[in-house]
Amino acid sequence: MATAAQATDWKLVVHGGAGVIERSRISPEKDREIRAALDRALQAGSKVLDSGGEAIDAVEAAVQVLEDDPSFNAGKGAVFTYEGKNELDASIMDGRDRAAGAVAVITQTKHPISLARAVMENSPHVFLSGEDADLFSREQKLEQVPPTYFATGFRRRQLEEFKSDTVSALDVEYKYGTVGAVALDSHGHVAAATSTGGMTGKRWGRIGDSPIIGAGTYADDRACAVSATGHGEYFIRVGVAHEICARIRIGGASGQDAADSVMAEVKALGGEGGVIAVTPAGEMVYSFNTPGMYRGRASNTGRSVALYSADDER
Ligand code: ASP
Repeated sequence: MATAAQATDWKLVVHGGAGVIERSRISPEKDREIRAALDRALQAGSKVLDSGGEAIDAVEAAVQVLEDDPSFNAGKGAVFTYEGKNELDASIMDGRDRAAGAVAVITQTKHPISLARAVMENSPHVFLSGEDADLFSREQKLEQVPPTYFATGFRRRQLEEFKSDTVSALDVEYKYGTVGAVALDSHGHVAAATSTGGMTGKRWGRIGDSPIIGAGTYADDRACAVSATGHGEYFIRVGVAHEICARIRIGGASGQDAADSVMAEVKALGGEGGVIAVTPAGEMVYSFNTPGMYRGRASNTGRSVALYSADDER
């Protein structure tokens, strides 16, 4: 493992959700839009890392870009609950000391990932939820927006489709659109961040894996940093993000093998989705059990993005 004194090549990996992402379902225009958005997120994080900045700042910066983009199910453009609201979840973790912050069911903070970070840095807690989390957000002077800011016509139509029929959230959406980022900085530290609107038609205050430390997000300098996307109920049951780190730290697995084997377990239970990961040794990992995942990676040697399983990168 690198120590703070050693200079490490920085790495950054982002995702914008996994699912039935196939060329035939995505117009050339949408394809270009998604690639451009992923690249903007990579650029935002790379800027931090390339100037010697910290992984925790890089993952927050990358996720903020994707929260602002209505193409993704996080921040603006989040999916609707059954009752027609946007309830946002996010989490962030620093591999240096496993400090973590998370929020769920928030409705008024423009960048939920920054609220998760404020929970980590400025509260004695790890996980806040609901209206009182929004109150903490105001006290922290984070940018507030009316709840309608997050709504888009596209997501409203998806909810109508979901309610009018017996289709599942995945059928409506054909993909999970959660966003996430993981980074290794030049000081050898890792961090992870994940932000989501959850799943279309969610009810009764449902919270998925994304804001749950150990399920949708985990970072530990002794192992790796992970951000997940997919059917959250399965990711919670498998404890995906922590399990991947444990297989590396205790089992001695490579990042790719750890991620692939845990994703295989998710699939065996009936769950779909994917993960991104980085290790302190500099391994950049994608692993998904769906036909595609919106994804991108960057290092000091360049940036690349991919959408489909047949794309250049797995
Ligand atoms: N994992 C998210 C959830 O279950 C959904 C997603 O990845 O889009 O809430």
